[in-house]
Amino acid sequence: MSLIEEANKGNITDEMKEVAAVEGVEPDFVRRGIAAGRIVIPVTPYREIRHCGIGKGLTTKVNASIGTSSDIVDISLEIEKAKAAEAAGADTLMELSTGGNFLDIRKQVIDATSLSVGCVPLYQAFIEAARKYGSVVDMKEDELFKATVDQAKLGTNFMAIHTGINLFTVERLKNHGRYGGLCSRGGAFMTAWMIHNEKENPLYSEFDYLLEIMKEHEVTLSTGNGMRAGAVHDATDRAQIQELVINSELADKAHEAGVQAIVEGPGHVPIDEIKTNVTLMKRMSGDKPFYMLGPLVTDIAPGYDHIVTAIGASISSAAGCDFLCYVTPAEHLALPNVEDVRTGVITSRIAAHIGDMVKLGKRDQDLAMGRARRDLDWEKMYSLAIDPEHAKYIRDSRAPDDTDACTMCGDFCAHKIVRENLNLAK
Ligand code: SF4
Repeated sequence: MSLIEEANKGNITDEMKEVAAVEGVEPDFVRRGIAAGRIVIPVTPYREIRHCGIGKGLTTKVNASIGTSSDIVDISLEIEKAKAAEAAGADTLMELSTGGNFLDIRKQVIDATSLSVGCVPLYQAFIEAARKYGSVVDMKEDELFKATVDQAKLGTNFMAIHTGINLFTVERLKNHGRYGGLCSRGGAFMTAWMIHNEKENPLYSEFDYLLEIMKEHEVTLSTGNGMRAGAVHDATDRAQIQELVINSELADKAHEAGVQAIVEGPGHVPIDEIKTNVTLMKRMSGDKPFYMLGPLVTDIAPGYDHIVTAIGASISSAAGCDFLCYVTPAEHLALPNVEDVRTGVITSRIAAHIGDMVKLGKRDQDLAMGRARRDLDWEKMYSLAIDPEHAKYIRDSRAPDDTDACTMCGDFCAHKIVRENLNLAK
């Protein structure tokens, strides 16, 4: 029985209890969320994992995407990145390799983590077609579904599947135009294939068959954002909204079929359009979990796109977005290395927390930090910090000799002056 069927019958499973304990909510809250499609727990019958709940009423989750490229294929590096992402506090991992032996790399990464793992089977199908036939547009339709089954059997928990690109969506893309093109690899592959073959996207036209596969292997569907704009000037355009309407409808259909569903959203959105995007998605999808890549709120800061993303992500999560895909400092420039992955996860976790302070009123940790700073209690400050090691490293690298203040204000530490002259303690 699928998790949705269990939830519909009123059964509270071990996965629901596990998520409820981590989140500090009642197990029945999680069960009701799953039954209504507001919450998902990506599960798999193929391996043991640390379960992660995503959706309304739960803390905002952070995904770290890793994977080889056609230029850099180093499995040990990908395993190191997977471990670094988990150690930095990522909630899920997406293995998105586009170079090397896909199944072998993914299996080794999956074996190295206890996190839920996501993937994009379409990459494998198109890239193997390019290797076999010389071009991605020569991919055979059944190769898409075979890649989906192969990757599900490895124990992947969720899959980004580009279901919302159909001939109508592509028409909207062409008639509205784009300043910055299309930055989804899956979207680019599928659009090129459809135009070349003058055919409908098989993931849309054969959606019922896709659902059978997802249900049999109990994979959570994440309806891919194939029309993702690569420029803030293209945000909220006809193609993006068209795809969102279709994906919202398909997510409903998936839920009715017993397949858990997430809806993916855009990646480049100016600040004043973020809330609109979240509201539109939530209204159209009946409050399905929303997964956004950031969003990035400006296009002019390569090298700092993790910060650009954190600004957008804190606003999107405060507005109701449930699941954030991290962005690393290497975004738009190169394949991320281990340090980029660590930085990306920490930065997105900060954004998720800022959002949760508004969305869920989670401010206890900030209150405790305020008191610890007032009391110059450094050990307490480290224990409350999102990245304790980094905080301790900075203080220790230039610590004062004989004071419990720090070298920022030294003898003129405001907290010491207040402590010696008045009592403000609350
Ligand atoms: S010295 Fe300045 S920065 Fe450092 S703890 Fe005191 S008030 Fe804060």
